[in-house]
Amino acid sequence: TVGAVALDKKGNLAAGTSTGGMTAKRFGRIGDSPVIGAGTYAENGVCAVSATGHGEYFIRYQVAGDICAKVKYQQKTIIQAADEVINQTLVTAGGTGGVIAIDQQGNIATPFNTQGMYRATRHQGQEAKVMIW
Ligand code: ASP
Repeated sequence: TVGAVALDKKGNLAAGTSTGGMTAKRFGRIGDSPVIGAGTYAENGVCAVSATGHGEYFIRYQVAGDICAKVKYQQKTIIQAADEVINQTLVTAGGTGGVIAIDQQGNIATPFNTQGMYRATRHQGQEAKVMIW
């Protein structure tokens, strides 16, 4: 995966996700990365999320969208929301992976339930960016 989430100085949130898919995937498999709400989601005023991992689970549990819904409707912090979905919902289901997430204030969460997830963050005033690869 190569994913990025960003908050710009005007307060816009954005997310993007690119992937080669899963090893030995079936011909025609799409995966979660291009599915808005599954592997990628951004909504101004709420949060932006990009995911890596076993895409079928990210689609089934609407991982990126669910994280933002918890922030928007349940007033969870981005750290609580992302941690719940990755370390409770997905773990219970048997799904592996992680996300990078940023909220409207520039708070960042990068939970994963795998051995590791390469990630980097950059803050510049109010602007912030996070990447995974
Ligand atoms: N989430 C991707 C997929 O299932 C795999 C990855 O890049 O993590 O297609």
